[in-house]
Amino acid sequence: TPTVGVLALQGDFREHIGVLRSLGADAIPVKRPEELARVSGLVIPGGESSVMDKLSRLFGLAEPLKAAVASGMPMYGTCAGLIMLADTLLDAINGQQTLGGFDLVVRRNAFGSQLDSFETDLDVPVLGEPPMHAMFIRAPVVESVGPRATVLASLDDGRVVAVKQDNLLGTSFHPEITGDTRFHQYFLDRVAAA
Ligand code: GLN
Repeated sequence: TPTVGVLALQGDFREHIGVLRSLGADAIPVKRPEELARVSGLVIPGGESSVMDKLSRLFGLAEPLKAAVASGMPMYGTCAGLIMLADTLLDAINGQQTLGGFDLVVRRNAFGSQLDSFETDLDVPVLGEPPMHAMFIRAPVVESVGPRATVLASLDDGRVVAVKQDNLLGTSFHPEITGDTRFHQYFLDRVAAA
């Protein structure tokens, strides 16, 4: 089986590694370019995207990560990880940059302080039944989806919270902490097919 990585600069990378291993994947933490070079797919976890951005540049990973996206490596970004992959970021702080690649406009902390965290059941047609129990934690929202990207799920009010584009997958929420492994399996299937 191919080795997959989880970007381990910051955030809840341990939870992702646990889920991927529970699905039988050979999953390793990625902190350095040498580790990135060993993997056939990468999960970018939740956390704080502005810190992840800073650390990725400090650790010399930003350029290798951009090259990996450009080469078509399958990637799955959850929450802060989705922010990292977006071409355009709204409400960035401290000169924050993104890796880009995903034809999206994403807004950080889009649900405001009134609704920092919430849970809901989400229909995700590509995953079938039952709906996914989704947990949102200071979550971003996809404000617009460019022609290269596809919507996989939206909230009842229409806000887009799961997307795909070729080998890229992104969710505003955190399947790694709710025990539903279908998005991780979907990612592993992309890795196997790539
Ligand atoms: N608010 C965080 C950010 O902007 C994301 C939160 C999360 O990953 N749970 O990076």
